[in-house]
Amino acid sequence: MAWKTIDDMDLGGKRVLIRVDINVPVEDGRVTDATRIERIVPTIRDVMDKGGKPILLAHFGRPKGKEVPEMSLAQIVPALEEKIGANVRFAARGFADAVSALPAGEVLLLENVRFHPGEEKNDKGFASELAELGDVYINDAFSAAHRAHASTEAIAHLMPSAAGRLMEAELKALEAALGDPKRPVAALVGGAKVSTKLDLLENLVSRVDHLVIGGGMANTFLVAQGIEVGSSLAERDMAETARRIVAKAESAGCTIHLPVDIVIAQEFKAGAESRSVDVADCPEGWMILDAGEQTVERLVELFGDCATLIWNGPLGAFEIEPFDRATNAAARAVADRSREGKLTSVAGGGDTVAALNKAGVAEDFTYVSTAGGAFLEWMEGKTLPGVAALGG
Ligand code: ADP
Ligand code: MG
Repeated sequence: MAWKTIDDMDLGGKRVLIRVDINVPVEDGRVTDATRIERIVPTIRDVMDKGGKPILLAHFGRPKGKEVPEMSLAQIVPALEEKIGANVRFAARGFADAVSALPAGEVLLLENVRFHPGEEKNDKGFASELAELGDVYINDAFSAAHRAHASTEAIAHLMPSAAGRLMEAELKALEAALGDPKRPVAALVGGAKVSTKLDLLENLVSRVDHLVIGGGMANTFLVAQGIEVGSSLAERDMAETARRIVAKAESAGCTIHLPVDIVIAQEFKAGAESRSVDVADCPEGWMILDAGEQTVERLVELFGDCATLIWNGPLGAFEIEPFDRATNAAARAVADRSREGKLTSVAGGGDTVAALNKAGVAEDFTYVSTAGGAFLEWMEGKTLPGVAALGG
């Protein structure tokens, strides 16, 4: 891997600009989920342990190049102090003075980079202004790496740069899953729609040995094979596309796995009467909301034969019981195999992370990415500008 890490950098007495993602949910001025903050703590601690002065660059919300008081990063300071366990100073402006006044052992947080119109334009001028504030740049915001912005891309070309601990962990996990994976490799792609995951499916069929298609998007593939799906969520206009993906998989030697049995209901609500039927037996007026037991059994068997699994998208409408069963059972099987050290499992995606947390197994996966859009773009095989700028 071409990018450097904190271990490669001499940070003693240096001003270290660290791009972080602390775009956390806030209600009434209080952080309601500090996961993203917790994940950047190792980087900040390591920088301080090596004698560096951490200066945090971050965005919050979408102020679109203007100062929007409600989107000030000042409100994140208490949560940062609590998690880092050090004094955190905040600078709304006068960045250079705030940097010179920063004592060793303290952290400086600069105001929302997106208040400046140059940030989202990846403006070189703004990037140089930021670069002047430090001696070294560390990017620990993998989740913002799919965007070429001044604080994620342009700045990395202007000074010695490295990946932070979280970025490093993400990149290593992703490399292990798709870059140079142990085979056989399976990908499980579920979720709602084919149309939102076309690039992803197209990229995966040429890179994995098995592609499991689940969730609402499986319905579209069933329709493409002439199977009736009642009033299920399905994109009938994507049938041709689905056939093309199947053909591409065939020529690439990738086996596609679709549900063999399904759980159906007439209403999408908790406690709705549900039935388990063969995949070909969805009556009119009924909709497919989950994969059935036989499908799950086959998946568990498949995972038993695989060395690597990459997972995005739930197998069913997991938010509502009992349509979370297939997702939960498959997730448990992956977690068990991973814990035994027999499977490298990497998962990501907003709803996927929620589903794995709900199933209580996220801890046992080899790696669960919280990067959202950046994770999906990486699964699509796209180059992430923030990673490329680090030389990787
Ligand atoms: P992620 O956020 O992990 O990328 P998606 O957003 O693509 O995942 O998909 C998650 C959504 O897919 C969930 O809201 C879930 O209810 C929905 N879903 C899964 N299976 C079905 C189905 N059979 N019918 C309708 N919706 C489904
Ligand atoms: Mg989603």
